[in-house]
Amino acid sequence: MMQSYDVTIVGGGMVGLTLAASLANSPLSIALIEANENPELTSEPASRVSAISYASRAIFESLNIWQNINSERITAYNCMQVWEKDSFGKIDFSAEQVDCSELGYIIENEQIQAALLQSVQKQHNVTFYAPDQLSNIAIGDGEAWLTLKSAKTLTSKLVVGADGANSWLRKKVDIPLTHWDYNHHALVATVKTDLAHENCARQIFTPDGPLAFLPLFEKDLCSIVWSVPPEKAEQLKKLSELEFNRQLTRTFDNRLGHCELQSERCSFPLTMRYARDFAKHRIALIGDAAHTIHPLAGQGVNLGLLDAVSLGQTIIENSEADKEIGLYENLRHFERWRKTETMQMIASMELLKRLFQGDNPLQKTLRDFALLFTDKVNPLKKQFIKQAMGLSGELPKIVKKNDADF
Ligand SMILES: Cc1cc2nc3c(=O)[nH]c(=O)nc-3n(C[C@H](O)[C@H](O)[C@H](O)COP(=O)(O)OP(=O)(O)OC[C@H]3O[C@@H](n4cnc5c(N)ncnc54)[C@H](O)[C@@H]3O)c2cc1C
Repeated sequence: MMQSYDVTIVGGGMVGLTLAASLANSPLSIALIEANENPELTSEPASRVSAISYASRAIFESLNIWQNINSERITAYNCMQVWEKDSFGKIDFSAEQVDCSELGYIIENEQIQAALLQSVQKQHNVTFYAPDQLSNIAIGDGEAWLTLKSAKTLTSKLVVGADGANSWLRKKVDIPLTHWDYNHHALVATVKTDLAHENCARQIFTPDGPLAFLPLFEKDLCSIVWSVPPEKAEQLKKLSELEFNRQLTRTFDNRLGHCELQSERCSFPLTMRYARDFAKHRIALIGDAAHTIHPLAGQGVNLGLLDAVSLGQTIIENSEADKEIGLYENLRHFERWRKTETMQMIASMELLKRLFQGDNPLQKTLRDFALLFTDKVNPLKKQFIKQAMGLSGELPKIVKKNDADF
């Protein structure tokens, strides 16, 4: 029998699940389609981690998700050190400078997803179709008709693409994509260091690209994100562990002493993607399905979580006002809102990336002075911190409620 839903979410990653959680107290019926089995949690640190902003913590707290995340696997960081290789340019950010106790949190993606699943699976208004996949869609005037790989059929007033960077839905409904290659691959791994990280996130800009050390739940454990040209990433993956450790320690200026690899080395190609439409008749896109950015400022999923709760807020407001939730005219505000925020983030990433590109001595000296200047000027620094904490721009209501410190 064909099932009918108000909202169908395609993709049960961190972003899709957050949208489902944000609709928990609404009378709307939701279908969630996810291609994979639930992630399995292990005692070993997972290699994919996210720097979760203060705003994202506020979202998770409002949705009663934060308390489900294993607290032993949340590493709060209260300082950030950024510097350039072979130069005097550096900038230090601390939570104290904005009268907060923390700047953000490093959490394994699987831990976040598991906490979200624990909540959403108990939600009375959500039906899971997993593992399953959307395999066809037809958009009608009054609803969308969906066929799953399992041959099940559904209808829905609104279909939300939260199906990641290579979104099947985005392609199927012909939403064009603006994209460019960052010409970087991000190599990720877990490493042990001689010196304790002291809950500080660190990033060095090298001529090849940025290398970040993100503090994990043990004092000498960090997750690294090393962005380098694709061919260099391949070379780094092929090095013996001994040689890799040597190169990593040297590239990171020995800042935490000798580094020792603790995991496999994985790499991900980095592409900027920006969907030309975030919404159309009966369709909305959120998270990586709508945009992907360079991980150098650790903002991708934070942006996606803000999309999810902004769309959740829009859907609830439309439904309470008896407006049709799938009509484009009722999704226009969401689209304008999130496109503006995304464009600002893409522009900031591009500025940062270009600022640190190039090895010309004059350019390097100017850059170092700019860093030192920013480091000394408090209002400018506060503005950067506020942006990194996700507390600038137009915020959804549930973030504003918790935004007590600024
Ligand atoms: C190296 C690296 C480091 C990063 N670090 C950070 C960081 O520190 N902080 C930060 O904020 N962001 C970071 N990001 C970005 C962040 O990882 C992504 O923005 C985030 O994972 C996107 O989540 P999502 O739920 O939108 O998509 P995904 O995590 O890709 O989830 C999409 C889901 O949809 C499912 N799916 C796909 N197709 C279908 C289909 N047809 N039917 C049903 N289900 C489907 C998939 O199985 C998947 O579960 C980083 C990215 C990289 C590459």
